[in-house]
Amino acid sequence: MPHTKTPPAQKQLIYIPFDQLTLSHGVIASAAPTTHSIVFVESERVCRSQVWHLQRLWFLISSARHFAAELTALGFEVHWIVAPTTVEGIEQVRSNYSKVVANEQSSHRLNEQLLEADVELHASTIFITSRLDFRRWAETQKSLTMENFYRWQRQRLNLLMEDGKPIGGQWNFDHDNRLPPPKGEHPWPTPLQFELDAIDVEVLDHIASQKYLVTGQPPTGMWATTRTQALKALEHFCSNVFADFGPYEDAMTTRSYTLNHSVLSPYINNGLLDPREVVSAAIARYNQGGISIASLEGFVRQIIGWREYINGVYWFFETDYKNLNALEATEPLPELFNDSSQTKMNCLKHAVMSVEQTSYAHHIQRLMILSNFATLVGVSPQQLLEWMRRMFIDAADWVMVPNVIGMGAHADNGRMMTKPYVSGGNYIKKMSDYCKGCSYNPAVRVGDDACPFTTLYWDYLDRHSDVFISNHRMARQIYAKNKLADLPAIRARAEHVRNELRNNAI
Ligand code: SF4
Repeated sequence: MPHTKTPPAQKQLIYIPFDQLTLSHGVIASAAPTTHSIVFVESERVCRSQVWHLQRLWFLISSARHFAAELTALGFEVHWIVAPTTVEGIEQVRSNYSKVVANEQSSHRLNEQLLEADVELHASTIFITSRLDFRRWAETQKSLTMENFYRWQRQRLNLLMEDGKPIGGQWNFDHDNRLPPPKGEHPWPTPLQFELDAIDVEVLDHIASQKYLVTGQPPTGMWATTRTQALKALEHFCSNVFADFGPYEDAMTTRSYTLNHSVLSPYINNGLLDPREVVSAAIARYNQGGISIASLEGFVRQIIGWREYINGVYWFFETDYKNLNALEATEPLPELFNDSSQTKMNCLKHAVMSVEQTSYAHHIQRLMILSNFATLVGVSPQQLLEWMRRMFIDAADWVMVPNVIGMGAHADNGRMMTKPYVSGGNYIKKMSDYCKGCSYNPAVRVGDDACPFTTLYWDYLDRHSDVFISNHRMARQIYAKNKLADLPAIRARAEHVRNELRNNAI
């Protein structure tokens, strides 16, 4: 029988990762069912590499499964493959196609793996700022100051600008946005609830049957898994939550896990929402009245400033930036990060409970409670990074690496932030209601009732005096530390705290 050569397949295969669930950007935007098929890969290496928060793993898979169903309904042939690795999953179907294409990936590792596997990568507009544009900006700067980047963004995007000047007469309204939680009862808004549908339930069953290792509470309906639901969450924020976003942006309370935060980051980070439409919705709501410029500016800064800056920095720095540990912090992550019942510290207990129950903690809890404590103790930045990556619903390599290595742990020798974000208990007392009723006293630095944050703060400055002495932004703190008469007692108490942490007795 004569051998007939199979004609080369004409269709292209698009690989879509679980964090690019959008029809609007990159290779999918110009694709059609007649010319392209789609492949999603559930990588067992990823799913089995960690003990994931159940809600995080479920949210990623279920959102992608919903998006795959949407693409099928649009007429695309869609492959959903469970494979040992992403590349092996793609290999299972690539022979039927002329080539495999994808957008640039959101992590260094996957980007490199796909390039090695001969997947054609295309730049996309999923982020507002391209990696090249950020690099061009960064190369003109003496230091990578976020505020300068943010002003550059406002000007080039012409957002919240009037006749070339910032509306409201100033770039930043942070000083208006620093209210502590009100005393007593306060009607904190609650996130919109979504009923789990058949796909959501199926994914929960799938995670159980695959025996993926998970921790934390199962989903309760707080998280959207479709674009339609995510748009409702955006509308809910604009209508019911936004007005007090600014004033309580940095507040912490035992009465609410989410306060007036938007809790939209998971959807912006996995593609269900576009950052541009989120900013447009916020501006449209402001234009209707009843929203302060401080709330609007603070929110817009998070989206076009912080979010874009963090992604830009991630791609600007070298691949092994995530391994930096400039302060040589080697303590293990305390067990209390995985079990809120293992601590008497009210602030940490509450922040960890929020993570256990919702896979979420707001940005001040992340920075000034969780990261702050780990940094003061001297926890390995890489252990903190791994914990955040597997526990937070909105985590991604590009988010967590700069936030932990550069900002939270100050492990990059100040390449990103000019000073560490550390504080003693007094800051937490000022911005929260946690200290009332806590076993410890934030004003006390030695003795059995000394707040561990306060003790460890002074000990941290003491241990790293030689690093910070030449940093003009830390000079005042180092000077104050040098004036303390009880430094030997602080050192002894800090050592005691670290020992007791190993026994879950703090
Ligand atoms: Fe946290 Fe210290 Fe306040 Fe207790 S006293 S809640 S440990 S800051």
